[in-house]
Amino acid sequence: MDQQQISAYLLKNGVRPLQKRVKIMSYLVSKRNHPTVDMIYSDLIHEINGLSKTTIYNVLNLFVQSGVALALNIEGNEIRYDADTSTHGHFKCKVCTGVIDFRIKKEDLPNPMLEGFRIDEQHFYLKGVCSFCANKIEA
Ligand SMILES: [Zn+2]
Ligand SMILES: [Zn+2]
Repeated sequence: MDQQQISAYLLKNGVRPLQKRVKIMSYLVSKRNHPTVDMIYSDLIHEINGLSKTTIYNVLNLFVQSGVALALNIEGNEIRYDADTSTHGHFKCKVCTGVIDFRIKKEDLPNPMLEGFRIDEQHFYLKGVCSFCANKIEA
């Protein structure tokens, strides 16, 4: 998505496409790295004048409320953000701290114990060592 498409996407979801918002959304969409506020801050500080962590936090909050981003709480107090709002799982590597997507649907899970339950939220989190880090450890 280019900046124009991102503006249109934000607008369609009720978010006024101010410059900072468009830049932060395009970062989320292009990087796909499930960043923290700190990661976004250090990557965009030279691109956006007067950027503060509070601004980023507020923009991300607005994105989450408007349904254009997810806030992931995989570990402790660390919140990571994702522009992919479809149902998918996350694998967090303990070594490189990378968060990697994997495809999963709740239909994939055999769960007769949840028969008749209404599911409002789905979070699939796995933790371990990614294949890249596993290869490095072995080498
Ligand atoms: Zn890793
Ligand atoms: Zn994700």
